[in-house]
Amino acid sequence: MKYKRILLKLSGESLQGEKSYGLDPKILKQYAHEIKKVIEQGIQVAVVIGGGNIFRGAQTVGSSIDRVQGDYMGMLATLINAMALQSTLEKIGVFTRLMSGIKMEQVCEPFIKRRAVRHLEKGRVVIFGAGIGSPYFTTDSAASLRAIEIEADVVLKGTRVDGVYTADPEKYEDAEKFTNISFQEVYERGLNVMDMTAFTLCRENNLPIIVFDMNSEGNLLKVVAGEEVGTLVY
Ligand code: UDP
Repeated sequence: MKYKRILLKLSGESLQGEKSYGLDPKILKQYAHEIKKVIEQGIQVAVVIGGGNIFRGAQTVGSSIDRVQGDYMGMLATLINAMALQSTLEKIGVFTRLMSGIKMEQVCEPFIKRRAVRHLEKGRVVIFGAGIGSPYFTTDSAASLRAIEIEADVVLKGTRVDGVYTADPEKYEDAEKFTNISFQEVYERGLNVMDMTAFTLCRENNLPIIVFDMNSEGNLLKVVAGEEVGTLVY
């Protein structure tokens, strides 16, 4: 296996499957099985989940809800997703721990780096909920930051597109996919891999990102094994 410790970023939207809102149990099971395949190979897996399928802080702009309040609502949404994935993983026999950026003693542990690493070493999937616990950030930033903190080898960004393209492949038929691309080139071409805060954190800390299609069966394991799946940003 090419990577020993990974941080998998799943967007909230991906968890809604065909639905227009909320969680699709079918997708949860599918993702849990994908993660299990990787854990069975002795790979250490941390997961950061988004909340866009339930709530995004940006939705509050122009509404009666204050932005900072909205961002905390978004963070709580990520915890709902994280709890759902945790349960689904445990149902199929995968040991897990949920760590949150916002203290919530009854349901999860607070994020403590050394503890997170210990859980990983014991083969538990560590799910990081509530982003980094501060408003005005995204879960992409949480993924970059936590990955750096726990010294992950790579951030794996699971999406429904199978990599980074010259243009949006859902809009432009002639868009071409990159197998590899440097941080510099992503920046120069103005491509959208992650938001700038998240992207810069990875770049400054030499943490590679792989964008890949999480919905294709067996893909996560292939990425971890080092097969040319998706796009490597380095
Ligand atoms: N959020 C935040 N700080 C964080 C992570 C998330 O304020 O560190 C809030 C923010 O409002 C964001 C929402 O939580 O819109 C849901 O996260 P995100 O939009 O990143 O989810 P995704 O797009 O991956 O589903």
